[in-house]
Amino acid sequence: MGFKTDAIHAGQEPDPSTGAVTIPIYQTSTYVQEALGKHKGYEYARTQNPTRTALEKNMAVLERGVAGYAFASGMAATNAITQLLLKQGDHAICSDNVYGGTFRLFDKIVRHYGIDFTYVNTSNLHDVEKAMRPNTKMVFVETPTNPLMSITDLAAVSEIAHRTGSRVVVDNTFMSPYFQRPIELGADIVVHSTTKYLNGHSDSVGGVAVLKHQEDADRLQFIQNAAGAILSPMDSWLVLRGIKTLPVRMEAHNANGMAIAKYLSERKEVTKIFYPGLPSHPGHELAKKQMSGFGAMIAFDLGSLENAARFLRRVRLCSLAESLGGVETLISHPATMTHASVPIEHRNKIGITDGLVRISVGIEDLADLVEDIDNAFDGDSPRTLRTVAEN
Ligand SMILES: *Cc1c(COP(=O)(O)O)cnc(C)c1O
Repeated sequence: MGFKTDAIHAGQEPDPSTGAVTIPIYQTSTYVQEALGKHKGYEYARTQNPTRTALEKNMAVLERGVAGYAFASGMAATNAITQLLLKQGDHAICSDNVYGGTFRLFDKIVRHYGIDFTYVNTSNLHDVEKAMRPNTKMVFVETPTNPLMSITDLAAVSEIAHRTGSRVVVDNTFMSPYFQRPIELGADIVVHSTTKYLNGHSDSVGGVAVLKHQEDADRLQFIQNAAGAILSPMDSWLVLRGIKTLPVRMEAHNANGMAIAKYLSERKEVTKIFYPGLPSHPGHELAKKQMSGFGAMIAFDLGSLENAARFLRRVRLCSLAESLGGVETLISHPATMTHASVPIEHRNKIGITDGLVRISVGIEDLADLVEDIDNAFDGDSPRTLRTVAEN
């Protein structure tokens, strides 16, 4: 089946008891057993839930893996993957400008279990090769990265990692399987924050991991049940509903993203812009090769904290908030918001400067978005700050 058909149907049969077209929210904690040892495959809802199973099967098909598992958040999915791949004495390599929460998980928690992490610019294959050790068990890549949108060659990194038997894990949150399918490119595991494009409506927090190898799938199923960070039936249902429109939303995000990136690149206030769809982006050619769209995440530098703060104070339609990937346009300041937990020296080294602004372009009318941004640059009446999210 084609991707759009799978997005709507994979893993979902009409409900056998009523014929309901949409999978019900099986809001139950346990299941009646007919006799000792005789049941319908469902015993307890941490272990199995039909709504969650539908989402997991759907994601396995969309990401071309053998199985998927849904977790309470993107971080819970990534944490479960560290439990799957790493034990005391192991080494792991990670992209040096991953999502701030991923860095925090690895550096403040996983490292304390006796696991060594090396952070490298995974866009530079030579650096990845140099960082590999005989005990490297995980190469964790985000591409495009958050927020600077650098691109890593997934086929090449997979080839390097597999030489010594390491697994390659890709955080595919920014592209979604509609624009990029890491397992097809050679990766072993894909993780997502379903909070973002997959759900797409900024009304649920969740995560999912999809695996290429059956042995990894069996072990992750064990971990999901044993550690218990499962996605709830209601959230599973919301994400399933979101995925049905993923293809049309991603096309709309992509079109608006490209237009806003071109517009920003022509503004004199913008000293630097990071969007893989622009030919000036260093990863443009690679992005064209391994992705089928460029998405709607753009970072741009306004030169100073003062300029960034002024701009963020003046946007009105674009909401100042963390998160991304929803139908509405969200704008944020990585240095003080998503990347506040990254030490300043590390932030400066990788280019997350105080003047950097990140925009997750939504699917509103383009003209309204352009007018809002225009006003933020040129208008003379500063508006009141709408919202400040923190976490
Ligand atoms: C949001 C995000 C995460 C974390 O997901 P949560 O659902 O917030 O736990 C991980 N990676 C990327 C790229 C993200 O944007």
